[in-house]
Amino acid sequence: MIAEAKLAKLGIRSRFDLVLHLPLRYEDETTLTAPRDAPSGTPVLVEAEVLRAEVVYRPRRQLIVHARSGEEPLALRFFNFYGSQLKQLQRAAEEHRRLRAFGELRAGWFGAEMAHPRYRLVSEGEALAQSLTPVYPTTAGLPQQALRKHVLEALEAENLEDTLPGELLRRYGLPGFSDSVQLLHRPPPGANLAALTERSHAAWQRMKFDELLAQQLSMRLAYRARRGRAAPRLPGDGPLLARFRAALPFRLTRAQERVVTEVLRDLATPHPMQRLLQGDVGSGKTIVAAIACLAAADAGWQAAVMAPTELLAEQHLRKFGDWLEPLGVPTAWLHGGLGSRERRKALAAIASGEATVAIGTHALFQQDVEFARLGLAVIDEQHRFGVQQRLSLRRKGEALVPHQLMMSATPIPRTLSMSYYADLDLSLIDELPPGRRPVKTRLVSDARRAEVLARILEACAEGQQAYWVCPVIEESKEGELQTALDTFATLSRELHGLRVGLLHGRLPVPEKAAAMQDFAAGRTQLLVATSVIEVGVDVPNASLMVIEHAERFGLAQLHQLRGRIGRGARESVCILLFASPASEAARERLRVIFETSDGFEIARRDLQLRGPGEVLGERQSGAPLLRFADLERDERLLGAAREAAEELLAGEPRRARRHVARWLAARQDFARV
Ligand code: ADP
Ligand code: MG
Repeated sequence: MIAEAKLAKLGIRSRFDLVLHLPLRYEDETTLTAPRDAPSGTPVLVEAEVLRAEVVYRPRRQLIVHARSGEEPLALRFFNFYGSQLKQLQRAAEEHRRLRAFGELRAGWFGAEMAHPRYRLVSEGEALAQSLTPVYPTTAGLPQQALRKHVLEALEAENLEDTLPGELLRRYGLPGFSDSVQLLHRPPPGANLAALTERSHAAWQRMKFDELLAQQLSMRLAYRARRGRAAPRLPGDGPLLARFRAALPFRLTRAQERVVTEVLRDLATPHPMQRLLQGDVGSGKTIVAAIACLAAADAGWQAAVMAPTELLAEQHLRKFGDWLEPLGVPTAWLHGGLGSRERRKALAAIASGEATVAIGTHALFQQDVEFARLGLAVIDEQHRFGVQQRLSLRRKGEALVPHQLMMSATPIPRTLSMSYYADLDLSLIDELPPGRRPVKTRLVSDARRAEVLARILEACAEGQQAYWVCPVIEESKEGELQTALDTFATLSRELHGLRVGLLHGRLPVPEKAAAMQDFAAGRTQLLVATSVIEVGVDVPNASLMVIEHAERFGLAQLHQLRGRIGRGARESVCILLFASPASEAARERLRVIFETSDGFEIARRDLQLRGPGEVLGERQSGAPLLRFADLERDERLLGAAREAAEELLAGEPRRARRHVARWLAARQDFARV
């Protein structure tokens, strides 16, 4: 009887999951090797006659079995063994029995030796294995033998019929499904072991293709399901938007114009937009969001703009206020720190439709927030929100679904956006507004802190402003706060005469806003801050940033922080103070951030360093990562799977659904609705 719990631990919940439980590697027990012919470093199967089994105590207690393979002596050593094992082997010696042992051979005291081989007593001339022996990922208490048996039974019992048309397989040079799984679970002697182990074998290619295809199909199906619903039509040709565009303080970049066109085109259709707007820090995403909000306002609908932190929401409030108030578009402001009277007022304005644009934090997601006519939801820094959160926006009456515009300053590497983001349409601002100067990055050991302080004084004397970013303290928000307070006290003393401000996450909202405004207005010259300033903060006169213990920050975080400067006319410098010795991984991160300022390149390196699970963060939670395919290595297959997915959905939707069902039946769906 199988312990289902053990199988469940391996993610195996159905018999078909057993079919897809593929070996990690193989052992070749299909041929016997003479000890003298064994290649070094490769485990082999040898057969030998048992001569003697004894326990010795020096240099440590062990069981040694002396045997003879042909004319060669062979010794097997076991450091952990049972008394019954000793008896069994002693009896085997008396009866001149033979055994087969599988393991690596090396030259030892008694000739060829194997330490802890897997072995079995055999009778003369017993048949050898007909296929390579698979080694599966397993868990404690579930031996390979047992697991193998279940897999073979599943291969027998399951319907392994192909889900894909032969013509498609021929086009991509892929073998059949049944042949592929049969081969992977029991490769015939002579199969290309290297290709199997590296997962480049055609059978592996087929499994990866199927997996990628299932992901594509399920995400595209989810996209279509959502897109099939009705949304308000926001044509974008109204007077508010026209007046706004005529009065813009700057010209949109070509990239901004392009994405505005993409967004307005979506909004004009009676189906919900599901668009992710990517653009590096400072590329000017906010104005695109404002334009979308005005399209909603023009059509008589409300818009909600959500930011992950109060600081950022507050900044949006100010910007949107500047832009929208002259047009007579009323805004509401909702965050966790509001008093109950203000909160009631905001809720009422949102529910009555009196407020056209609601700006806020997570507070906008709460149960009691109801919109009169929500037509558009803008989610800034979408990676900071859970998928559930962003979908829990409430509208009165659910007949029409609001459009969604998500924004991300963390660029998504191409392979990730092709796979895990296949349920969204993507827009990209790949150009910075004119006049930006690249930020110079310096790596400075914290032994040279005094020079850095002198540098700050110098910059501030010239009328510039600076940030000092306090280190992150893993697993302790308290520690982080204390460090910020200490740093503020120390720097205020050391930089006597400078007006120093402090900003951290625990400040009440009005004080946070005040600290930010003081800095924005130049009333403070140096802003000591925790990484709360990472997202969105925009003070063009700040041209110097010091990041303390930069080695503790993640790549994306460093890139975001650095993006806070370089927004004005002056040349900006980012000083990464590091404490040595730093770990290898930390040094690698600093090297990347020093070498490049291209957000996409940084994202790509981040993906390499951390892997998709970490990089995807919230988006990934609840969705299984790809088990077989490797986005980087299998990019070609990913492209093929995307192409095939479109084709199947268009031409053979039932086949497409069958394929998804096969791959995702017992697993959670890739796509979250
Ligand atoms: P992000 O994409 O990081 O959210 P923002 O929208 O905050 O960037 O824009 C960064 C800064 O650039 C803001 O001060 C904004 O007003 C300014 N900006 C945006 N677009 C342009 C443009 N086309 N020309 C000049 N400045 C612009
Ligand atoms: Mg922004």
